[in-house]
Amino acid sequence: MYHLPASVTQGSTWAGLMEAMSRSVLPSAVALVIPETYQRQLLWAVARYWLCEDHTYCGHCLSCMAWSDDGHPDVLVAGNDGPPSVDVCRKLADDVHLSPVASSRRIAAVLWADKMNLNAANSMLKIAEEPPSHGHVFFLMEEDRLIPTLRSRSWFFRFPQEELIEALPVPDGEAAWLAWIARAGQKVQAVDLLAELRGMEMSLASQGLLKEAAGLSQLIFLAGRAHLPATMIADLAYLLIKEDYPFEHISDHFR
Ligand SMILES: [Zn+2]
Repeated sequence: MYHLPASVTQGSTWAGLMEAMSRSVLPSAVALVIPETYQRQLLWAVARYWLCEDHTYCGHCLSCMAWSDDGHPDVLVAGNDGPPSVDVCRKLADDVHLSPVASSRRIAAVLWADKMNLNAANSMLKIAEEPPSHGHVFFLMEEDRLIPTLRSRSWFFRFPQEELIEALPVPDGEAAWLAWIARAGQKVQAVDLLAELRGMEMSLASQGLLKEAAGLSQLIFLAGRAHLPATMIADLAYLLIKEDYPFEHISDHFR
């Protein structure tokens, strides 16, 4: 269910997180700054270690055994479909007070925390200030942006974007594109493909091909949100960049 690229787990930020967890010193509010593509994967990875009885993701304690394809009963997530509303945030803050089910802790996670509106952000204030003794709040965000009252209560772990994504060349010509599509379609984890597209977006932007880069950026957003399979993402990237197909035509299909 979770898969993090080596560029994430080999960096110093990941090492710092693991170190804090192994010493059991993770504070009650944690801010994780990482590109949207990796937010869910990072959350699952950190939660696996943090909820495990000895923080090793041992695989056999009650908490480790409670993981399924649907997640974990003590990991509550707001923002699965984009920035969470104030109602969703309020419910999250309430639910984290309930006793843990399979672990000694509960995690309330807010995805897109940099993009939630002010009311939603304010509704998280109380839980960040006075969490229940078993509770933790994780704010996951692409940009290092939180309202000051939440910021001052959170411990930040920043995964530098430039360390995670290297510029990748866009396939050159029809044959190269077809070979790329065939290879991309075999990727089991769409997140790997999205990381690759981010690399292409970066090289398009550096060549001044801003329209193509923007289209790719929108595709990455759409693909993550709609959980598109790798084969479809690869075909859409081809249409967008090689065939110059307008992104609006693509997004119309997913309304
Ligand atoms: Zn365990």
